[in-house]
Amino acid sequence: MLQLTNTLTGQKEPFIPVTLPVRMYVCGLTPKNEPHLGHARNFIANDVLRRYLEYRNMPVRYVQNFTDIDDKIIEAGLRDGIPPAEAARRYMTGYFDDMDALGVRRADVYTYVTEYIPKIITFVERLIESGHAYSIPGNPDDPENTDQDVYFATDTFPDYGKLSKRDDEAMQAGARIAADERKRDPRDFALWKSAKVGEPWWPSPWGHGRPGWHIECSTMAMDTLGEQIDIHGGGMDLIFPHHENEIAQSEALTGVTPFARYWVHTGLLQLGDEKMAHSTGAFVTIRSVLREVPAPALRLYLLAQSYRTQFTYLQEQVRAAVTRWRRWVEARSTAAQRIGAVVPLVGEDDPFLAYQTDFIAALDDDLNTARGVATIDDLVRRLNDLTAQGAQVDLAVLAAGVAMLDTLVGVLGIALDPALDIRATIDDATREAIEELVGQRTAARQAKQWAEADRLRRELDERFGVEVKDTSQGSTWTMKS
Ligand SMILES: [Zn+2]
Repeated sequence: MLQLTNTLTGQKEPFIPVTLPVRMYVCGLTPKNEPHLGHARNFIANDVLRRYLEYRNMPVRYVQNFTDIDDKIIEAGLRDGIPPAEAARRYMTGYFDDMDALGVRRADVYTYVTEYIPKIITFVERLIESGHAYSIPGNPDDPENTDQDVYFATDTFPDYGKLSKRDDEAMQAGARIAADERKRDPRDFALWKSAKVGEPWWPSPWGHGRPGWHIECSTMAMDTLGEQIDIHGGGMDLIFPHHENEIAQSEALTGVTPFARYWVHTGLLQLGDEKMAHSTGAFVTIRSVLREVPAPALRLYLLAQSYRTQFTYLQEQVRAAVTRWRRWVEARSTAAQRIGAVVPLVGEDDPFLAYQTDFIAALDDDLNTARGVATIDDLVRRLNDLTAQGAQVDLAVLAAGVAMLDTLVGVLGIALDPALDIRATIDDATREAIEELVGQRTAARQAKQWAEADRLRRELDERFGVEVKDTSQGSTWTMKS
């Protein structure tokens, strides 16, 4: 049975949905910039969880939101010189392009804050009516302006802190950094923010304003999935305050506990010593990597570590993942050519069942994709051994191996289509000609013949559209997109 680590209890627990389909909500993107590899990791991890549940006969209803209005989108609009709504649209389109390339299946439902304002307002009104929220003047220095802010009254929700396991003192100390004298308790957080000059706003019972961030996910998750959901996903950086606040709002409103039965959090991807994030500027966009790396190989790289692990992005490891993926593709293509239309052995006769058993044991253990990938490596080696037998090989056995490989990589969402290899877009003769010129250029650089090296760089660009990059380990080249 599938075991998942539940942040709420801090335990690895058997996953048992209340009913089918499994109700799954994942915090989505604030479309303020091109998505980076940290986003890729999180959405791929949730995509594999969804695929694996389905593989284990648990259909999933998967909902994901877009925070399509937010301080950072307003900033993005200013940065890009376009209205915030257009900036949001631009980066949502980019998100879908990248996720489609990476094989992340589309959600059953996408929700957008800008389409949820009336329902968010109703949610906030009900929290005020039940005494869990209060409004205060949004512009205390300007008595003419009657717009109000609305805050959640944290002291009315005794379970506050149960997800992040922070004690009151730690939370108060954290909240005091941005101390706001108007709040009743430093932990209280905004449900509704009064409008600032020049920013988008909506009419509300509290005047002109817009929703705070946390309230959107409570409203959308309940609206699309009901008062209780099975799985709530997102990055570990969302545990506090975002998910803690979602719990407070939701459980205070409905009294249904827990709001989400399993809180499943993806570990962070590091760049050097920092968390990969737009906010710090320490990020690598998905798009920049996909210029040089086949998309399924990037996916394989991100799944070769299990979803809760925190790890550091390293280009050498991405290159190793490309090699690994090409080995899988090659093994599959070679075997598939041999078997033609031969029918595979199935059921108890399937000689590859042990690989399936290993794979399920790995993923049942808190979605251990690192072990799942190792099982596929073993399967690929077995396929290569069989292919190497030449004419001796039992084609029905080989066909069973290919079928099993297709099933297991399908659960991980890793396509093994040779056409997805960026190398496939150039023929062998061209590649040899490029390698020859790159080699000549390296020699010229070593001999400090800089003019010749520059000339060769230009020739590579003009003849082949190739861009050369010099690193401490030598020169690499890519096709310009
Ligand atoms: Zn959220």
